Amino acid sequence: MSELAKILNSETALTQAETKIAQTRQIKARLKHRRNDGKLLYDNWQGSSNWHQWRMHQLERQGWKCVCCDKQMGFGEKTYLANGDFRLEPQHPTVEHILPKSLFPELALDLQNLVMVCWACNKKKGSKMAIASRMRHKQLQKKLNFKE
Ligand SMILES: [Zn+2]
Repeated sequence: MSELAKILNSETALTQAETKIAQTRQIKARLKHRRNDGKLLYDNWQGSSNWHQWRMHQLERQGWKCVCCDKQMGFGEKTYLANGDFRLEPQHPTVEHILPKSLFPELALDLQNLVMVCWACNKKKGSKMAIASRMRHKQLQKKLNFKE
Protein backbone atom coordinates (compact mmCIF):
# COMPACT_ATOMS: atom_id res chain seq x y z
CA MET A 1 0.00 0.00 0.00
CA SER A 2 1.39 3.42 -0.94
CA GLU A 3 1.94 6.13 1.67
CA LEU A 4 -0.90 8.16 0.19
CA ALA A 5 -3.25 5.21 0.19
CA LYS A 6 -2.33 4.50 3.80
CA ILE A 7 -3.15 8.08 4.74
CA LEU A 8 -6.40 8.04 2.78
CA ASN A 9 -7.40 4.79 4.47
CA SER A 10 -6.48 5.97 7.93
CA GLU A 11 -9.41 7.22 9.94
CA THR A 12 -7.08 9.27 12.18
CA ALA A 13 -5.44 11.05 9.25
CA LEU A 14 -8.82 11.94 7.78
CA THR A 15 -10.08 13.25 11.11
CA GLN A 16 -6.90 15.33 11.48
CA ALA A 17 -7.31 16.72 7.97
CA GLU A 18 -10.95 17.61 8.64
CA THR A 19 -9.97 19.35 11.87
CA LYS A 20 -7.28 21.35 10.02
CA ILE A 21 -9.78 22.41 7.36
CA ALA A 22 -12.28 23.48 10.02
CA GLN A 23 -9.58 25.45 11.87
CA THR A 24 -8.50 27.20 8.65
CA ARG A 25 -12.12 28.17 7.97
CA GLN A 26 -12.43 29.62 11.48
CA ILE A 27 -9.20 31.63 11.10
CA LYS A 28 -10.34 32.98 7.72
CA ALA A 29 -13.69 34.01 9.20
CA ARG A 30 -11.97 35.75 12.12
CA LEU A 31 -9.60 37.60 9.75
CA LYS A 32 -12.52 38.76 7.63
CA HIS A 33 -14.22 40.00 10.78
CA ARG A 34 -11.04 41.85 11.83
CA ARG A 35 -10.76 43.50 8.41
CA ASN A 36 -14.30 44.79 8.79
CA ASP A 37 -13.64 45.92 12.37
CA GLY A 38 -10.99 48.44 11.29
CA LYS A 39 -13.10 49.71 8.42
CA LEU A 40 -16.21 50.08 10.61
CA LEU A 41 -14.28 51.95 13.31
CA TYR A 42 -12.76 54.35 10.79
CA ASP A 43 -15.95 54.84 8.73
CA ASN A 44 -17.76 55.77 11.92
CA TRP A 45 -15.22 58.52 12.68
CA GLN A 46 -14.77 59.79 9.11
CA GLY A 47 -16.78 62.90 8.35
CA SER A 48 -17.39 63.76 12.02
CA SER A 49 -16.49 67.23 13.32
CA ASN A 50 -13.62 65.66 15.29
CA TRP A 51 -12.33 64.06 12.08
CA HIS A 52 -12.50 67.40 10.21
CA GLN A 53 -10.68 69.10 13.08
CA TRP A 54 -7.93 66.49 13.24
CA ARG A 55 -7.48 66.55 9.46
CA MET A 56 -6.97 70.34 9.37
CA HIS A 57 -4.63 70.15 12.38
CA GLN A 58 -2.60 67.40 10.72
CA LEU A 59 -2.42 69.30 7.41
CA GLU A 60 -1.02 72.31 9.28
CA ARG A 61 1.50 70.07 11.07
CA GLN A 62 2.66 68.66 7.74
CA GLY A 63 2.74 72.11 6.15
CA TRP A 64 0.12 70.81 3.68
CA LYS A 65 2.78 68.53 2.18
CA CYS A 66 2.10 64.92 1.26
CA VAL A 67 4.26 62.63 3.47
CA CYS A 68 4.72 60.33 0.50
CA CYS A 69 5.74 62.59 -2.42
CA ASP A 70 6.30 65.91 -0.58
CA LYS A 71 4.06 67.77 -3.04
CA GLN A 72 1.81 70.58 -1.84
CA MET A 73 -1.74 69.40 -1.18
CA GLY A 74 -4.95 71.39 -1.60
CA PHE A 75 -8.68 70.78 -1.75
CA GLY A 76 -9.99 70.52 -5.28
CA GLU A 77 -13.07 69.44 -7.14
CA LYS A 78 -14.79 66.13 -6.42
CA THR A 79 -16.20 64.68 -9.62
CA TYR A 80 -18.90 62.04 -9.39
CA LEU A 81 -18.84 59.36 -12.04
CA ALA A 82 -21.85 57.68 -13.62
CA ASN A 83 -21.28 54.46 -11.63
CA GLY A 84 -21.56 56.32 -8.30
CA ASP A 85 -17.80 56.41 -7.73
CA PHE A 86 -15.98 59.70 -7.44
CA ARG A 87 -12.70 61.12 -8.56
CA LEU A 88 -10.61 63.65 -6.66
CA GLU A 89 -7.92 65.95 -7.99
CA PRO A 90 -4.39 64.51 -7.57
CA GLN A 91 -3.37 67.05 -4.92
CA HIS A 92 -6.49 66.49 -2.78
CA PRO A 93 -5.51 65.60 0.83
CA THR A 94 -6.66 62.20 2.06
CA VAL A 95 -6.20 60.34 5.35
CA GLU A 96 -3.87 57.36 5.15
CA HIS A 97 -3.17 54.63 7.70
CA ILE A 98 0.55 53.92 8.02
CA LEU A 99 -0.24 50.40 9.20
CA PRO A 100 -3.34 49.35 7.25
CA LYS A 101 -6.61 49.23 9.18
CA SER A 102 -7.45 45.90 7.55
CA LEU A 103 -4.53 44.20 9.30
CA PHE A 104 -4.32 46.40 12.41
CA PRO A 105 -7.92 47.29 13.33
CA GLU A 106 -6.78 48.28 16.83
CA LEU A 107 -4.81 51.13 15.19
CA ALA A 108 -7.65 52.29 12.91
CA LEU A 109 -8.26 55.35 15.09
CA ASP A 110 -4.78 55.73 16.57
CA LEU A 111 -3.74 59.27 15.59
CA GLN A 112 -0.07 58.24 15.60
CA ASN A 113 -0.95 55.84 12.80
CA LEU A 114 -2.62 58.48 10.61
CA VAL A 115 -1.01 60.83 8.11
CA MET A 116 -2.22 62.96 5.23
CA VAL A 117 -1.24 61.95 1.72
CA CYS A 118 -2.34 63.29 -1.65
CA TRP A 119 -5.00 61.43 -3.60
CA ALA A 120 -2.45 60.51 -6.28
CA CYS A 121 -0.27 58.70 -3.71
CA ASN A 122 -3.26 57.21 -1.92
CA LYS A 123 -4.39 55.54 -5.15
CA LYS A 124 -0.96 54.19 -5.99
CA LYS A 125 -0.27 50.54 -5.30
CA GLY A 126 2.43 50.13 -2.72
CA SER A 127 2.05 53.69 -1.43
CA LYS A 128 1.61 52.26 2.06
CA MET A 129 5.06 50.72 1.93
CA ALA A 130 6.48 54.01 0.67
CA ILE A 131 4.86 55.89 3.53
CA ALA A 132 6.04 53.39 6.13
CA SER A 133 9.63 53.52 4.90
CA ARG A 134 9.56 57.31 4.62
CA MET A 135 8.22 57.63 8.16
CA ARG A 136 10.92 55.30 9.45
CA HIS A 137 13.52 57.38 7.61
CA LYS A 138 12.19 60.60 9.18
CA GLN A 139 12.08 59.07 12.66
CA LEU A 140 15.65 57.88 12.25
CA GLN A 141 16.76 61.34 11.13
CA LYS A 142 15.03 62.83 14.15
CA LYS A 143 16.76 60.38 16.46
CA LEU A 144 20.15 61.12 14.94
CA ASN A 145 19.34 64.83 15.00
CA PHE A 146 19.87 65.28 11.28
CA LYS A 147 18.30 68.17 9.44
CA GLU A 148 16.95 67.87 5.90
ZN1 LIG B 1 1.70 62.44 -2.65
